[in-house]
Amino acid sequence: MAADGAPADWDTSAAALDAADPLAGCRALFDLPEGVVYLDGNSLGPLPKAVKARMASAVQTEWGEGLIRSWNSAGWVDLPAKVGGRIGRLIGAADGTVVAADSTSVNLFKLLSAALALRPGRKKIISERANFPTDLYMAQGLAGLLDRGHELVLVDDAEALPAALDGDAAVLMLTHVNYRTGAMLDMAGLTAKAHAAGALTLWDLAHSAGAVPVDLAAAKADFAVGCGYKFLNGGPGAPAFLYVAPEHQDSFSQPLSGWFGHEAPFAFGPDYRPAAGIARYLCGTPPVLSLAALDEALALWDGVDMAELRAKSIALGDFFIAAVEALCPDQGLELVSPREGGRRGSQVSFSRPGGAYAIMQCLIAHGVIGDFRSPDILRFGITPLYTGFADALAAARCLAGILESGEWDAPAFHARAKVT
Ligand SMILES: *Cc1c(COP(=O)(O)O)cnc(C)c1O
Repeated sequence: MAADGAPADWDTSAAALDAADPLAGCRALFDLPEGVVYLDGNSLGPLPKAVKARMASAVQTEWGEGLIRSWNSAGWVDLPAKVGGRIGRLIGAADGTVVAADSTSVNLFKLLSAALALRPGRKKIISERANFPTDLYMAQGLAGLLDRGHELVLVDDAEALPAALDGDAAVLMLTHVNYRTGAMLDMAGLTAKAHAAGALTLWDLAHSAGAVPVDLAAAKADFAVGCGYKFLNGGPGAPAFLYVAPEHQDSFSQPLSGWFGHEAPFAFGPDYRPAAGIARYLCGTPPVLSLAALDEALALWDGVDMAELRAKSIALGDFFIAAVEALCPDQGLELVSPREGGRRGSQVSFSRPGGAYAIMQCLIAHGVIGDFRSPDILRFGITPLYTGFADALAAARCLAGILESGEWDAPAFHARAKVT
C-alpha cells in the first residue's frame, strides 16, 4: 500500500487489491444504484437481483393464483425453518436449531425468558452499557413483567465481564459485534466463563451473521438472536432469527405461546401445548412475503467462502482506515473501531466531535452512504460482497474533500431526520 498517500499510489493499490479479490464477482448479484458507494449494508443490506424475480413470483403466482393453497403447495408454512436452516449454515448452527421469525427484539424477549427460567434461583442479567439499546430495553421490560427481582447489571468495559459473573448471574446477554464501534467479543471465551460461573449465554448476532465467521456450536452458546435485514440483505424489516442449543429446546416453553409454536396448530384445541424442538419458539403467522425475500437473499451465500469473506473484510477495513488517516489528517477524526482487524467486526467507525451528523449528511449528498450514530460517530459498513477497494478509496477521498472545503457545515446538513 502507498505509504506516502500520493494520489496515484492509492489508486494503484486499490486497483491491485481489487484485481486480486476472489469475491469481486459477487457485486453483480446486487442491484446498486450508479454513482453510490454503499457503506451502510450493516444497517440495511442492498437488494439482491434474484429477490426481485422471487418477490414477483411470490406475489403473482403464489399469492395471486395459488391463494390459500400456497401455504402447502408453495411451502409457505415451512419457510421459518427453511430460512432458519440457511442462516444456521452461516453461524455454525445445526439444522433444527434456528428459525426465522418476528424481530430481533421479540426474539430476545423469548430467549431471555427461557434463559431466566432455566436459572430460577439467580437474579442477574449481565450485559454491557454499550449494548444495543433494544436489548437492554427488552431485558428491562421482561424483568418488570416477571416482577421477581431480576436485575440488569451493566458493565462499562468488556474487560469487567468475567468479574461480574458471580453466583447470582443467570445469563450473560451480549452483542457479539458492537453496533457503534465494531469491537468484537470473544464468544467462546466468554461463554466458557459464563458456564463456569453457572450462567447461560444469549448472543445478539445482528452485526455478525453474514459479517464474520460465527460458530455457535463450537462456542457452546446457549441462545442467540440476530437480524435479517443487515448483512443478510433480506430487505427493510426482514424477519429476524433465533437459535436455541439442542439441549435447551424442550426444557422451557417461551411465554409468547402463539399457535404457530403449538404442537398441533390446526387441531384448534383450547390449551397451549408447545411443539417439540425449535418450532415452539415461533409465535404467530409468519410474514410470508418477507420470508420469501430473505430466503432468496440467503441463497447467494451458497457460493461464498466465509474465510475469504473475512479476509477481504479485514483487508478492506485496514485499507479504508489507512486511506482516511492519510487523506484526512488534522481533521479531528479519531478511529473508535479496533485497529487490529482480528478484533473488529465488519465496520469501521470514526468519532468526530462536533459535526459528525452533518458530515455524514454531506457524504450522503455526494453518494457516499454510511450512517451517523449518537453522539459523534461516523459509521461505515464494510460489506465485502459488493464493496471494493476503489469504493473505499472513493469514500475516503470524498470525506477528505468535504472536510477540507468545509462544505459539510452548510445548515441543510445539520437538519436532523427521524432515522439517522
Ligand atoms: C439492529 C439491531 C437490532 C434491531 O432489533 P430489531 O428488533 O430488529 O429492531 C437489535 N440488536 C442489535 C445489536 C442490532 O444491531
